[in-house]
Amino acid sequence: MIRPILKYGAGSLHDRAADVDAITPEIDTLVNDMIETMYAAPGVGLAAPQVGVPLRIFVVDVSLGRDPAGLMVMINPQFVAREGMQLEEEGCLSLPGFEATVVRPTRVVIKALDREGTEYERQGDGLLARAFQHEMDHLDGTLFIDHLRGIKREMIVRKIKKLSRSGKW
Ligand SMILES: [Zn+2]
Repeated sequence: MIRPILKYGAGSLHDRAADVDAITPEIDTLVNDMIETMYAAPGVGLAAPQVGVPLRIFVVDVSLGRDPAGLMVMINPQFVAREGMQLEEEGCLSLPGFEATVVRPTRVVIKALDREGTEYERQGDGLLARAFQHEMDHLDGTLFIDHLRGIKREMIVRKIKKLSRSGKW
């Protein structure tokens, strides 16, 4: 089932998410829904807080479904390593219509539980490193615009407020 994606300003997007205690049938359904919602958007990643569930889960597929091995489900993920620095344009399904250049690591290693509850580790380089860091941020209530300095962030926030006032956000 495709779930509605929350936009900037919605509560659970801006709070720290909690660890998953056990992989219950509800968690399994949530993961299925997140995968479906990510591909439908389409997006390269989606975190549970973006669908209003304050738990530490994200899904990622930088191949957008073209590579069957591209899909990753990460439950209670943790950084193992972060290296380097890249500057690229970035967007977010919770900030439709906005993009900005964000500083990210070039290589990220994460360990997490898969949907069966087995721990595994994955290395991401380039776009995948960016996606990992972006989704990890979501679990801490951080959106990409929170990484921007003063005026750039202010401009986006002001535009969102204007859109909200006219009921377009
Ligand atoms: Zn995002």
